Amino acid sequence: MINFNVPPCGEKAGEYMQECVRNQKICGDGAYTKKCSEWIEQRTGTAKCLLTTSCTHATELAALLADIQPGDEVIMPSYTFVSTANAFVLRGAVPVFVDIRPDTMNIDEKLIEDAVTEKTRAIAVVHYAGVSCEMDTIMEIAGRHGLTVIEDAAQGVMASYKGKALGTIGDFGCFSFHETKNYSMGEGGALLIRDESRVEDAEILREKGTNRSKYYRGQIDKYTWVNLGSSYLPSDMNAAYLYAQLEIADEINNARLALWNRYYENLLPLAEAGRIELPVVPEGCVHNAHMFYIKAKDIEERTARIKALKENGILSVFHYIPLHTAAAGQKFGRFHGEDKYTTRESERLMRLPMYYGLTLEQVDSICDVIKRFQE
Ligand SMILES: *Cc1c(COP(=O)(O)O)cnc(C)c1O
Repeated sequence: MINFNVPPCGEKAGEYMQECVRNQKICGDGAYTKKCSEWIEQRTGTAKCLLTTSCTHATELAALLADIQPGDEVIMPSYTFVSTANAFVLRGAVPVFVDIRPDTMNIDEKLIEDAVTEKTRAIAVVHYAGVSCEMDTIMEIAGRHGLTVIEDAAQGVMASYKGKALGTIGDFGCFSFHETKNYSMGEGGALLIRDESRVEDAEILREKGTNRSKYYRGQIDKYTWVNLGSSYLPSDMNAAYLYAQLEIADEINNARLALWNRYYENLLPLAEAGRIELPVVPEGCVHNAHMFYIKAKDIEERTARIKALKENGILSVFHYIPLHTAAAGQKFGRFHGEDKYTTRESERLMRLPMYYGLTLEQVDSICDVIKRFQE
């Protein structure tokens, strides 16, 4: 049997976690949290990285930092995980969905400006499969209309756009370290803050509305309640688990890319024969092999393909049901313009096994089953 995902684990995870236990230091903002944040800051070049309990929580922090108010509108794709929308709906905002591009499954940057109204406050982009949105165009539109840009880079750790790490281009970037992502701490994430001037506000929000971070740095002699806030600190034990992977991040990334390339080479003849479609990585985008997907002709053929793989002991899965078609999406949001690709393309897409530890031979055998598929 070939699983769809096996969560990554660094060799030293056990050792590092035991160290936390031995030192009786498992609460938030300990030594490993610091190591992880510093690693991310150094690798991405962001002004500040704050480790959080999830990408969902990082996005909620971003919505608070962007001062999203009831009735505000936030432009985003409908083809995404619920957290992209929920973070803003929790603040009373309205998600305004625009169509995606069929090549990358990312928000179509050319459709964004038409969705801007006097209520628009932010654009939340999602870098699907670790392939960047067209950020130059998006930042230019945001600049002209005074909008905050939040990057849902849950799938984008170690990927870049024109040399810039995903999550560092917009005002705020959100990483996920959920066990389904390239690097895992079980449950966890990170908020990346581009501008130094927003760091203190973010620290306060993350520390239950107190200025405790400042206190720990010795900048003040007691800490108090200064603003809104909640608790978004992960245990240092989870950070220890993550750090064991960040230390070998290049090795993990290269292994994933080798698998991705093997899929691509194996399946290219099928794509050239018009039987399936393969993912597209535009120029300027360096991806991280978060996902390998193919597109079938339609939903019926996809169902048959997933079944054929399953009969051969291979688990493949489809992905997001567009948010605007879900009950909550209809209640809280609206779709602007025509749904030309979101539904159609989402119904054709299927994800193939992809994880650190999968072998090239397994990829070959998966591709053999795909090649043998007959309608
Ligand atoms: C996984 C994912 C999330 C949620 O991440 P959590 O860390 O589980 O909260 C949000 N957005 C996208 C695009 C994701 O893939």
